[in-house]
Amino acid sequence: MSCSKSLSEAKALELIDTHCHLTFAELQPHIEAVLARSREAGVTAWITVATDRPQIEKVIALLPKYDNMYAALGIHPHYAKDASPEDLSFLKKAAQADKVVAIGETGLDFHYTFSEAEIQKKVFKAQLAIAAELALPVVVHSRNAFDDTMKILDEFAGKLKNVVIHCYSGTAAQAKLILQKGYYISFTGIVTFTKKVNETIEAAKLVPLDKMMVETDCPYISPEPVRNKRPCEPAFMIHTAKILAKLKGMDLEDFAREITATSRIFFNLA
Ligand SMILES: [Zn+2]
Ligand SMILES: [Zn+2]
Repeated sequence: MSCSKSLSEAKALELIDTHCHLTFAELQPHIEAVLARSREAGVTAWITVATDRPQIEKVIALLPKYDNMYAALGIHPHYAKDASPEDLSFLKKAAQADKVVAIGETGLDFHYTFSEAEIQKKVFKAQLAIAAELALPVVVHSRNAFDDTMKILDEFAGKLKNVVIHCYSGTAAQAKLILQKGYYISFTGIVTFTKKVNETIEAAKLVPLDKMMVETDCPYISPEPVRNKRPCEPAFMIHTAKILAKLKGMDLEDFAREITATSRIFFNLA
């Protein structure tokens, strides 16, 4: 029967929001409802990302409570200026907890430059060293800092397990360079903003599915057509997945299966 077929197809979606901030104040107080809506939309697993020491503590406390919830732990470049050597040791220890599957987000942000560039670089390198030592993949935040990001990653060539450039908003030419290094690229709702970001859409077209991941980066960046709904939440990732599937000329179900497989490989999920 056609209606039971479409129901089973809807159930078959098992997308992973590979970058969300479930412990941020906009989302955590409503987490049960947020996760329920996410499952309903076919986004059934989550990598929740810590950005500083207090967030690392919150994420570690949240993880055991939910199946299919994993974490990336790191110090965001915005907070690099506050990161003490003790914080980095704390991160290294916390990253060995159950269900922690990556280091990050870490990287460089020269758009805001809330922390001085040299301090950002130092804290980025320290976290890459931790990732190399623990053999964990790295979630990289890079904004207006493409060349420096690539240069620092080059210094760790051969030492890092896997690297993803998250919330990709660069050009197709930059995406080619990232892919040449063997890194992954993760897309947010930015690719749904068709009027403004043709370059990023061109980039998405050339990223193969075995290097592509999808994320919300919620509570930020609600995708079209729910761009005005705030905060963004994992359920909204379905809109970004639909746009990317269309760009690839694929059925949503086939696209979802492929990028979920890619995400599982990247984060080494069971
Ligand atoms: Zn980021
Ligand atoms: Zn983020």
